[in-house]
Amino acid sequence: MLIREFPGLSKDPRRLEGGVLATGYMIGSIAIDAPEGVQYENPSIILITHEHCDHIAGLTYSNVPYAASKFTADAIVGRREEATLCGHLGIRIPDRNPKAILTEGQILKEEGFSLEVIETPGHSEGSLCFYCKEEKTLFSGDTVFGDYSLPALALPTSNPAKLLDSYEKLLKYEIKAFCPGHGGKFSKENYVRELLPRLKELTLV
Ligand SMILES: [Zn+2]
Repeated sequence: MLIREFPGLSKDPRRLEGGVLATGYMIGSIAIDAPEGVQYENPSIILITHEHCDHIAGLTYSNVPYAASKFTADAIVGRREEATLCGHLGIRIPDRNPKAILTEGQILKEEGFSLEVIETPGHSEGSLCFYCKEEKTLFSGDTVFGDYSLPALALPTSNPAKLLDSYEKLLKYEIKAFCPGHGGKFSKENYVRELLPRLKELTLV
């Protein structure tokens, strides 16, 4: 009810074919991630889940302040084309400084809901998830996808062992619904526990 999604938008066919348009979400007045569609929203702040270009590209078209992990903020401000994947996809890194750095355990309180910051490196070094206790919903960025696929783990700052630690951490939360960075909201209780065996197999190789 509080939560709705907004799409990434692009007229660039390379990006559509590459499937790199992320999904953003609005919860109250907060935007989660900045795919290009964020320019048509009117959030008070944008919380970035991680440094990849499809999640930050909209910062170029929006003046709304953003907050991110230190790694993500440094990647944007330091114009790190490899870490952001902007170089690969020919996307300009937004020229924006963060309003705030987000760290583990911070709780952002809003009217009627709160969001807890959870550091979840693995898919990328700067990855965060945001947990809404009132809705028992996790804004998972690219840390957890629907459809039982694991996130990409061969990118420049990926680390499967760290993702395993991040999944173990997420098991402590009562999560009834996920808002992933690709696709839309879905409800699957204990979903992270179901993904774990596959990730464990991967990290043993
Ligand atoms: Zn990503």
